[in-house]
Amino acid sequence: MDWENNGAKICLFCIFLLVLANAYVWQFIFSLDGNLKIIFFDVGEGDSIFVVTPQGHQILIDGGPGERVLDKLAKVMPFWDKSLDLVVLTHPEYDHLSGLNKVLANYQVANVLWNGIKRDTAVFREWEEALKKEKAKVIIAQAGEQLKAGMLWGMVLNPLNSLQGQLFEKDSNVSSVILRFIYGRNSFLLTGDAPEKAEQAVISTDTDLDTQLLKVAHHGSRTSTSLDFLANVKPQVAVISCGRNNLYGHPDQTVLQNLLEFGINVLRTDLRGDIIVTADGSNLHF
Ligand SMILES: [Zn+2]
Repeated sequence: MDWENNGAKICLFCIFLLVLANAYVWQFIFSLDGNLKIIFFDVGEGDSIFVVTPQGHQILIDGGPGERVLDKLAKVMPFWDKSLDLVVLTHPEYDHLSGLNKVLANYQVANVLWNGIKRDTAVFREWEEALKKEKAKVIIAQAGEQLKAGMLWGMVLNPLNSLQGQLFEKDSNVSSVILRFIYGRNSFLLTGDAPEKAEQAVISTDTDLDTQLLKVAHHGSRTSTSLDFLANVKPQVAVISCGRNNLYGHPDQTVLQNLLEFGINVLRTDLRGDIIVTADGSNLHF
């Protein structure tokens, strides 16, 4: 009996089983069933949203704080896939950007969409370096900019004009890239940490804001999600991405009350963990 040979065979068989298991898990999560998937990763107090189209386009919007996003991506992407079609940074603050720096270091990113502003922070300097090294195509966000990935169509709503090169000394929430995605009759509005001032700016452009799913801005802070904005967006579902027992008291009770009054179904990452939404072109499933 050739034990060494047998050992190698067993080893190969185990590897085969692992590959099969990984492929199965991946297919389970992202079966190419003609549906679009959006996952709001539970990254604690921050935002990180992963979108996969039925054609397999992979888009990551923000990376959350720290490097939790790497584990999250590893769970939903096949282990051999180390590339992303598009990375969006809504605004360069730690709770949206930190994880993206790790993503750029570990993944080949084809396109980066962000607002091009400047911040005087360590995490921002790391971003500038990472972006230089990445050699991705960089798109500076400005209202009217359009994206297309298979049947998924996106449009930038904020900032209204290019902010490229502008230094934001305090925080950059008002510069948040607001993106509206359309997939068949499904629609999603992703708002970063945009405060009421940015909401008013977008409303003033008379763009169609009517959207099925709203990613509530700034983790449910009372500085965003004004009644006027809700009346324009009229979402069926609102997703709040915030940390369990976070220090900021997010989401704010007033915001929750307003969402309730509009009869909006609220999904929270602090209560549910990762939130997976499936869009079939007309209805949303979660
Ligand atoms: Zn934030």
